[in-house]
Amino acid sequence: MSKKVLLKINNITKSYQGTPPIHALKGVNLDIYEGEVLSLLGVNGAGKTTLSSIISTLHPPTSGDILFQNKSIYDDVISFRKIIGMSPQKPNIDEMLTIKENLLFAGRYFNVSENIIKQRCFDLMKKFELLKYADAKGSILSGGYKQRFILARTLMHNPKLVILDEPTVALDPHIRRNLWDTIKQLKHEGITVLLTTHYLEEAEALSDRVCILDKGVIKLTDTPENLKASYSKSNLEDVFIKLLQEEKEETPHDV
Ligand code: ATP
Repeated sequence: MSKKVLLKINNITKSYQGTPPIHALKGVNLDIYEGEVLSLLGVNGAGKTTLSSIISTLHPPTSGDILFQNKSIYDDVISFRKIIGMSPQKPNIDEMLTIKENLLFAGRYFNVSENIIKQRCFDLMKKFELLKYADAKGSILSGGYKQRFILARTLMHNPKLVILDEPTVALDPHIRRNLWDTIKQLKHEGITVLLTTHYLEEAEALSDRVCILDKGVIKLTDTPENLKASYSKSNLEDVFIKLLQEEKEETPHDV
């Protein structure tokens, strides 16, 4: 695995106003390496979606910075967005447009040249078995096909970093495994993948490293192999459960 840093996340915090305010991220430091699959893990509310949304520039952080090629991404957000492909937790498809129109629109949004857009649109529809739906409205797709479409759209502008927020929720096992193959292929092509998932077997099968978030801070970041060895467990799910138990023992009054 290449150890070249793609993104340097420096002391990111995020607080949501309210009474009381919610401190969703409390100083996150993380290097994301080029070409790795890095999974963000954590219980509900740990801050995973907040962090991936900040990295994909959907939200600004409250403080801290993210460096790409040693420069703050906030110096030129538009250029940075061209290297990011974001697949959100809920498929946000324009249901008035056909699948093909949706993909063409995504390519034009990123200012890709018209010839390349058309070729990529065809290649991605083929890859994700969407050709039969090319002229169908987005509204008729099943959940699994919507997810395939979202992935195709995420890749239209050939991003360097693909951010997948719980991409396999509610997919049948066959489509889930297809998506795993796609993630492995992205890695093979040198694309960096930031994956948020609650499926520990998925994280174990796909990740070079996992990053466990807990109440807005990074509890640990390591390879699945190292974690299993350190905690003497045969799988990542058991490591995760053990960590949760340790956490409960440390904070017995926390509900
Ligand atoms: P899940 O696994 O349930 O998707 P998560 O780890 O992705 O959870 P976040 O969605 O990032 O967690 O939420 C982190 C914290 O920030 C939670 O306490 C949540 O209630 C809070 N939060 C998230 N979005 C907002 C918002 N728009 N306004 C206020 N609070 C928010």
